Formats: sequence, structure tokens, C-alpha cells
Amino acid sequence: MPLTATVYHVDLTRGTVETKTLPEDVYRKYPGGSALAAYLLLQSIPTGADPLGPDNVLVMAVSPLTGLAISGQSRMTACARSPLTGAIGDSQCGGFFPAEMRTAGADAFVFTGQSKEPVYFWLNDGKAELRPAKHLWGKVTGEVDTLIKEELGDQKVEIAQIGPAGENLVRFAAIMNMVNRANGRTGLGAVMGSKRLKAVVVRGSKSPKPAGPELFRGLVKRLKELEEVNPGIKWFGEYGTAGVLAIQDKMGGQPTRNYSEGTFEQCKDIDGSTLVKTILKERDTCYACVVKCKRVVEVHEPGLDIDPSTGGRVETLTFFGSMCGVGDLKLLSKASADANMYGMDTISAGATIAWAMEAKANGLFDDKGLGLAFGDGQSVLRAIEAIALRKGAGDLLARAACAPPRRWDRPRSTSP
Ligand code: SF4
Repeated sequence: MPLTATVYHVDLTRGTVETKTLPEDVYRKYPGGSALAAYLLLQSIPTGADPLGPDNVLVMAVSPLTGLAISGQSRMTACARSPLTGAIGDSQCGGFFPAEMRTAGADAFVFTGQSKEPVYFWLNDGKAELRPAKHLWGKVTGEVDTLIKEELGDQKVEIAQIGPAGENLVRFAAIMNMVNRANGRTGLGAVMGSKRLKAVVVRGSKSPKPAGPELFRGLVKRLKELEEVNPGIKWFGEYGTAGVLAIQDKMGGQPTRNYSEGTFEQCKDIDGSTLVKTILKERDTCYACVVKCKRVVEVHEPGLDIDPSTGGRVETLTFFGSMCGVGDLKLLSKASADANMYGMDTISAGATIAWAMEAKANGLFDDKGLGLAFGDGQSVLRAIEAIALRKGAGDLLARAACAPPRRWDRPRSTSP
């Protein structure tokens, strides 16, 4: 059976879409995900491309297994020159977007150029178009999700989008899907923002089929049997990634107060087992995955109102939690929901806020009224908003604590 990939090349400057088929020998060498994304990126990015300029190339790629009914396959790699590191940025997301992208007929998207006005890309069963998105610019992720579904008259479209953080070129802006799943790392949401590409929307009706259906069925059955008896997978499903906090803490490896300590005195208050006993509403999953490691939490308290929302990952609880000295699980769920709403990586955001807390305590940083202090959860919430909207000290923090000044830091606007 021939193995080929369908790649949509979208030129945002000219507003054109071209479909190309990747030759089998190339696809077998770079079979999807990070390998295919890096290959496609290197085919078209010029040397020295400005990460936030029209020369940068953003690739989204899935793999030959994506969309098949087997655990763990629903992954999409996003890749571009990173505005955070200056190197090739590579970040994966889960959820249902990757499987739907393949069902819609795409193995990869290659976005080049820069649109004059905000647009979103819409792929419906192999039919592709760019649609105006000026009415969506400036809106947070939940609102955009609702508006696009209404506009297309289909609640089952899957949407990978940026929030205000991506529009405002925050160096660690994320690409969000399902509103709460992220290509979080390396600032690829800012690359989308620089291209004025608000969202990528997919819908399909032709599920991919395995080349050997009998063999595939046997593999799925065997995997399911192994998963059912594997205590590690059962534990992971029950407690999620947040379950490792207490373990890391016991080993002295829980990043605390901007890495100044390795244990956090309130770790048990924010660990996965406490989350299960307190604010967990249900477990969620990615397409066809039986593990269900996603946590859906719900909090209804004054100032911390969170409708059911996926949160409580180890990275989020670590970087907004122990790194900022905050041991309040409900507040951390609000911080996670806010970062998802603005479309921002919780790891880099938390690390940057923790750095600012320490720098301020040592008289090295003027937070311009944010009131940043280790242990003050409300100041974390204020900082998340300030960074996403680039207000006050948030404008500087949006460049991230870990990265040196870059030539692409110059002020610029993506406003329509
Ligand atoms: S539910 Fe968890 S284990 Fe399953 S694919 Fe998603 S992230 Fe991976």
C-alpha cells in the first residue's frame, strides 16, 4: 500500500492554498510528527528568518497513526523558528484536534507569509479556505471557540487557535485546542499571532484506515490488555501528571520559589491525590485514549469561579504553585484557566513570574504595582493578565525571564 502524505501549503501574504503530495520515499524517512514538521520547515525557511516576521514558517504535522482508534496517537506537532529561543521550536498537543485534522484529509499544514488582516484557515473534508477573522481578534479562547462553531454551524469542528497572548506576541504564547489543550512550548502562538492567523479549524468524515485491519485490531486488543493490568498506567489515569508532585518533593526535586529550594512545605495541598479528593469533577481524555489522564476541575467561589475546565497538570501546579510559593489548589486552577483563556504556556509564564518575585524581593525589578511576592496567589493572577495584555510590568515579562534580549523584541503591533 503506498504511503503518502497530503500537505496544505498556505501562503498568508497572497491568501492562497496549494495542496501537494509528499513522495513516499520522503514520507517513509520523515514519517509524521516532529520529523515531518522539521523537514517541511527546513524546506522553506530562509536563513536568519525573523521568528515574528513573514519569513518564518509555521508547520503543523500529524503522523500515519493519528486518527486510528488506539491510545496515545492523537498528537499534533507544531514547529517554527521560536521567538523564545531563536532555535527551531517544536511542541506537541493532544486532544481531539490531531485526529480530526487527519480525518479532514491533512497530514501537515505549512503556513508562510503574513496576512494583512486577521484570518482563520478552514479545512472541511479536503476543501480548504481562508476566512476573515477580524471579528475574532482580541477575543479570548472560549469566546472564539463558541463564535467559530456558531459561524460554521457545526459544534464538532476542532479548533487550534491563539488567544490575546499570541496576538500580543508574548514570547511564550501557546496554540490552544479544545480551549484547554496546548502546543504550549517555545512560543508558537506568537508566531501564529505575527502571521495574523487566529485559528486553524478542521472537520472531516473519512477516518483513516489501517493498512492491515486484522493486525491492527490484534494490536489494539493486546495494548488494552496490557493497560488494564499495568499498575503504572492505572495510577497515571487516576492521579494524572499531578500525581508526581509528592514524589518529586520527597526526592528533593520539586522546583520551589524560583528554584531556590527543592521541597515545598505545602506540596501535599496541591498534589494529584489532594486534587482527586477535592476539586476533581471528572477525568477527560484525548481521542481514543483509554488512559484518561486529563483532570476536569470545577470551583465556584467568589473571585475563583471556574466552570468545568481541564487543569491540574504537574507543570502548571509546579510553576504557578511551588515555584511561586502558592499552595492553594483552587487558586492554581484559576491561574491555569486564565492562562488557557489568554493562550499562554503555563510553564514559561509561571517560571517568569517566579523569577520576577525573586528579582523584586532583591530590589532588582520594579513590578509597577503588581504586588508580586512569593506565596501571594492573587499576584500570580494579576501577573498572568498583565503579561497576556502586555500591561505595565507585564510588557517586559512577556519577553520571558529565561531569554536574553532579541533583535525581534522591537515594538510592533498585529492590530487589524
Ligand atoms: S489522555 Fe493522557 S495519556 Fe491519553 S493521549 Fe491524552 S495526554 Fe496521553
